[in-house]
Amino acid sequence: MKNEINKFTLAVHGGEEKNKYADSLINPIVQTSTYSFKNTKELCDYMDGKHPREEYGRYGNPTLRVAQNKLASLDHGIDSILFSSGMTAVCVTLLSLVEEDSHIIITNDSYRRTRQFVRDVLSKFGVEYSVVDPTIKSIESAIQENTTLIFSESPTNPYLRVLDLKGLAEITKKKNIISIIDSTFATPYNQTPLDYGIDLVIHSATKYLGGHNDLMAGVVIGNSDYLLEQIKQYRNIFGGLLDPNSSYLLIRGLKTFALRIQQQNNSGLKLAQYLESHPKILCVHYPGLESHPDYRTAKEQLKGFGGLISFEIDGDIKRTGQFIDNVKIPFIAPSLGGVESLIEQVCLMSYYEMTTKERLEVGIKENLVRYSVGIEDVNDLIADIDQALSKI
Ligand code: PLP
Repeated sequence: MKNEINKFTLAVHGGEEKNKYADSLINPIVQTSTYSFKNTKELCDYMDGKHPREEYGRYGNPTLRVAQNKLASLDHGIDSILFSSGMTAVCVTLLSLVEEDSHIIITNDSYRRTRQFVRDVLSKFGVEYSVVDPTIKSIESAIQENTTLIFSESPTNPYLRVLDLKGLAEITKKKNIISIIDSTFATPYNQTPLDYGIDLVIHSATKYLGGHNDLMAGVVIGNSDYLLEQIKQYRNIFGGLLDPNSSYLLIRGLKTFALRIQQQNNSGLKLAQYLESHPKILCVHYPGLESHPDYRTAKEQLKGFGGLISFEIDGDIKRTGQFIDNVKIPFIAPSLGGVESLIEQVCLMSYYEMTTKERLEVGIKENLVRYSVGIEDVNDLIADIDQALSKI
């Protein structure tokens, strides 16, 4: 079931059994911390691997498994592993796959906490790392003898850089390096990195997959039993798996996933085009615009360009704040990908404690705005931005 149109069907039915507990149409929430065995024989058969089933709440849950199956089917993987947040997925995955005295490569335009985990935590255990631009050329030239893993977002945060995934898979496969793509901004509607030969895909499911700004979740998806098993072993130790209620909310959110992303793709492009034509906007970072440095790769690789737009106001930190305060529909909030539009001044939301110089060193301009398009009518969103810009 690999053609694109099936994303609509998979979102509704993927990963679910048709006949469910008590003839329920909707998948039940199995609220339990442990599972019972009828007798010692059943226990021993399970331990001998004869009957796969649940054992204990830290290892799995039937509601969680349905959500995992649905996510695996959407991203064309054989299985997925769900966590209680995107960062739990990132940290447990990296921790389970890095090796002693190894070197890993991450890209610089990325979620700040991912870089922090590598810099402050993994380095404590002697893992060397390089932080490079999100281009194949920079990644390739950072590869060392002991490089074992490459992790990048695509599209990246906040400049929406798009990596050539086929190119990345080719160089990593040749050198036996594990490739991981955080595909949160694209979602499995717009790209499926496993199809290009990428080893693992990660999402903050808090964003587009949950889609309603009401849950935290993270997921890693793959096609290699070997890699997935290593990550599962670590989750079995740490816990940090998604609880049954949030798993239910995620399944529910996913039912409308394709519809939401279709709308957000359409609105994202229209809004980006509008912004690019406005005299008070200096620059728009959106991979669906020809002015974006990765437009060509994006056009080839992405089915849609997504609902996240970064843009620069013609003004300073204060004028940018004034614009944000004048916008009426979106909430001023971190995060992205939900049905409600959100807006943030990146330097204040994510880099507040830094000086202007420090912000510029990590590529964050003080006039940079990040807008996450929800599912509201795009003409209303444009009119709202228009009135806000007219006041500054
Ligand atoms: N990856 C990306 C691209 C993100 O934007 C985020 C959060 O903003 C994360 C991972 C972490 O996800 P979570 O907030 O669900 O822990």
